[in-house]
Amino acid sequence: MIVADLLKNTKRTLFSFELLPPLKGKSIQEIYDAIEPLLEFNPAYINVTYHREEVVYKKRNDGLLEERLIRKRPGTVGISAAIKHKYNIEVVPHLICSGFTKEETEDALIDLNFLGIHNLLVVRGDPDKNLKTFIPTKGGHTYASELIDQISKLNNGIYLDEDIANPTPTQFSIGVAGYPEKHPESPNFETDIRVLKHKLDCGASYIVTQLFFDNKRYFDYLELCRKHGIDVPIVPGIKPISVKGHLSILPKNFYVEIPIELSKEVEKCNSNKEVEQVGIEWAIAQAKELIKAKVPSIHFYTMGRSSNIAKIAQAIY
Ligand code: FAD
Repeated sequence: MIVADLLKNTKRTLFSFELLPPLKGKSIQEIYDAIEPLLEFNPAYINVTYHREEVVYKKRNDGLLEERLIRKRPGTVGISAAIKHKYNIEVVPHLICSGFTKEETEDALIDLNFLGIHNLLVVRGDPDKNLKTFIPTKGGHTYASELIDQISKLNNGIYLDEDIANPTPTQFSIGVAGYPEKHPESPNFETDIRVLKHKLDCGASYIVTQLFFDNKRYFDYLELCRKHGIDVPIVPGIKPISVKGHLSILPKNFYVEIPIELSKEVEKCNSNKEVEQVGIEWAIAQAKELIKAKVPSIHFYTMGRSSNIAKIAQAIY
């Protein structure tokens, strides 16, 4: 099943959610435990994020710092295959530019194709935590559009090495990221939309938005995209607030604004249980308005927590 077709043809608002691979050393059971409470809401597909390696600095005996690369989470390819084959649900692994050479990306694509996984969400990846700007991996891609171009070529049987035996065309369908509050590195919305259009021209066929807390941001963005001739499905992404710390962490990490009414309600709470309830109610109100506006799907960012998503799904589906 191709997610883009599903989004184009659906008559009702679908339910999808995104999972983060657990930290290394934990078991796949953690992923299953996050999925199972959400199965009764009939998810149309499940996304699995990808994470680059991180750089840590260790002090050497001579006092100098040594740079070490550590991978904190197991691979998205294996997790996606496990979910697809255990639950018979469509999975959408994310592919990222950062931390991967073109050859490593091609290997991941060959594995995914072999495993019968044909839907992808393609993003660039964030800058390394220790650096302010995004530095592409040597031999890798600088922008999501370049990675999409590599996948589109593979869909036409064009592999990196033209002498490769059996250059079977793949059949990947690609979603990309969009930013209702603008990507933080873009100088203005016009540039952001131009880049988004370029990603679609390179072969992507639908958009999933960054999380937002004010639906007006999404509706304005939708209008702007349509005005610029972007006619593909644009799936809104929602993340319920669940701890007080989200008031500062989410704007800092995702460059999104939290409406004053929501932050006031969260600040009044005396426990995280109360915060979670406020987050659930806010997300339900957002989702109800989005459903009324006939969005193709609502995409929930679980960030490793699914009990609150289940309560929201219960109220709206
Ligand atoms: P791009 O589309 O490449 O754009 C990045 C910046 O470069 C933008 O400012 C853009 O305007 C600019 N730009 C792009 N092309 C050009 C060009 N040709 N010339 C000049 N400027 C250009 N991160 C992860 O690490 N793993 C994940 O699994 C993950 N999943 C995500 C899922 C969703 C739905 C979203 C919204 C984000 C996700 N992210 C993930 C975060 C994402 O990697 C970051 O937001 C990243 O900073 C940008 O990714 P992008 O694909 O939008 O980049």
